[in-house]
Amino acid sequence: MTVWTCATCAIEHPDTAAPPEICEICADERQYIPAGGQRWTTREELAAAGHRIRVTELEPRLHAVEAVPELGIGQRGLLIRSGHGNILWEPPGYIDDAGLAAVRALGGIAAISASHPHLTGSSIQWSHAFGNAPVYVATADGQWIRRPDPAIRLWEGRAEILPGMRMIQCGGHFAGSSVLHWPAGAAGRGALLTGDTIGIGADRKSVNAMRSYVNNIPLPRKAIQRILDTVSPLEFDRLYGAFRVITADARPIVRRSLLRYMDWLEGIPAE
Ligand SMILES: [Zn+2]
Ligand SMILES: [Zn+2]
Repeated sequence: MTVWTCATCAIEHPDTAAPPEICEICADERQYIPAGGQRWTTREELAAAGHRIRVTELEPRLHAVEAVPELGIGQRGLLIRSGHGNILWEPPGYIDDAGLAAVRALGGIAAISASHPHLTGSSIQWSHAFGNAPVYVATADGQWIRRPDPAIRLWEGRAEILPGMRMIQCGGHFAGSSVLHWPAGAAGRGALLTGDTIGIGADRKSVNAMRSYVNNIPLPRKAIQRILDTVSPLEFDRLYGAFRVITADARPIVRRSLLRYMDWLEGIPAE
């Protein structure tokens, strides 16, 4: 049967005879249903519309895996070649044969994860294409799983999904919102993959964290403090958000930005 994909968020849903009435992800206050109403699409329809998977190198051992033209929320999936197997982070909501071949040529996929439910895309289709590779979902976000599957592994707090590669739960945007620490990234200075757990500003010199980015719902001080406390002990110089990258000095930028955020919450105008 057809795997249904929400046309707005590009998150896959089960292969039922008819699609659900509504996408619960988009009906939530953190996302949106477009003015035209709920719409579903399929892999076949997306292929006919010209979507394809593009795989490009971003730095040694890291490739972007993205749908072009942009699809759904539009995140850039990332494939890390860790030396102990590859991790596909925040897969696009689409998959095609050329994309599969490109990823296979890079060593395939040993694990799949995402910062939070919005950016899970076609995780299960990618998993099935690579020997049912485990798909890591924070237990706290279990209620948002749209396509249940035996490949899903629930975790909480911290999880070493491949040797040396750790998921760390920060909360905030979603209760299970997390980051992936890649110590070997950025030529050994360390990289943090944050998705929407820590968003990157348009200036690429600042970060933020929101309950909803698209509907502008902020987070309370304690949530921002928890994110800062959780990532502060990690060594990293580069930060990959869902849409942008801070190539260097990301650690002090995160600290400065989140302290500024809390200042504004307290009513203390920053410089
Ligand atoms: Zn949706
Ligand atoms: Zn999100």
